[in-house]
Amino acid sequence: MTQAQRIAIVTGANRGIGLEVVRQLAHKGMTVILGSRDLEKGTAAAAKLADEGLQVIPRHLNVTDPDSIAQLATQVEQEFGRLDVLVNNAGILYDTWQQASNANLDTVQEAIATNTFGPWRMCKAFVPLLRRSQQGRIVNVSSEAGSLTSMGGTAPAYSVSKTALNAFTRTLAAELKGSGILVNSICPGWVATDMGGAGGRPVEDGAASIVWGVMLPDNGPTGGFFRDGKPLPW
Ligand code: NAP
Repeated sequence: MTQAQRIAIVTGANRGIGLEVVRQLAHKGMTVILGSRDLEKGTAAAAKLADEGLQVIPRHLNVTDPDSIAQLATQVEQEFGRLDVLVNNAGILYDTWQQASNANLDTVQEAIATNTFGPWRMCKAFVPLLRRSQQGRIVNVSSEAGSLTSMGGTAPAYSVSKTALNAFTRTLAAELKGSGILVNSICPGWVATDMGGAGGRPVEDGAASIVWGVMLPDNGPTGGFFRDGKPLPW
């Protein structure tokens, strides 16, 4: 299968790392669906890429809304009949302002709803379409903040949501072993976006770390945790 034949979805792609992942996949010739919970923002982001000569498909997608996910799954099935790449990038609440002992549990729940259940819901909806691909790839955009090995006291909601996402990656990868669908958690590193703030590395580098997981060969790893193509400790 050539890159030009691959159909990809990136969630939370109207800005930040997601938008740059869309740009890099479109550069490779893939048909890329730019998911955005605010379609106007998604359409504006796609228009910017069109100015660079890249045609991508903006679609409404709120990863906490089952109806929004189901609607996109129906559209993708009708238009393409399958999906090749799912990048679960949408993420929120790097809650550096709270600690475990004083955390607002509504905030924790909100983080888990987007960062953990979002990718989980997306996989439930799209694995049937990924099974029709010859080269299915799922990248769950995680963070070293979710690594139990190096876990500190900061950002408890975010950290716990990403640890749970990593566990989900393991269970799904094991389930899908032998299906041709590779499932990995990937950390983009500290990246200078709205979430990461100033001082992080360029968004191009963070996105490249993610794109590595999309471009894995058929005998590539599954059920792993990586940054820049190198394993990270769980
Ligand atoms: P960002 O600049 O804050 O962008 C987050 C994106 O997610 C936005 O497009 C946002 O849409 C979208 N989003 C949030 N909730 C959503 C929902 N319910 N449905 C659909 N989209 C939703 O963040 P980023 O730095 O690019 O981060 C991207 C991913 O990388 C996240 O998973 C993050 O945890 C991970 N990460 C980032 C860093 C870093 O240093 N930046 C480090 C490690 C991991 P709106 O514009 O509508 O808000």
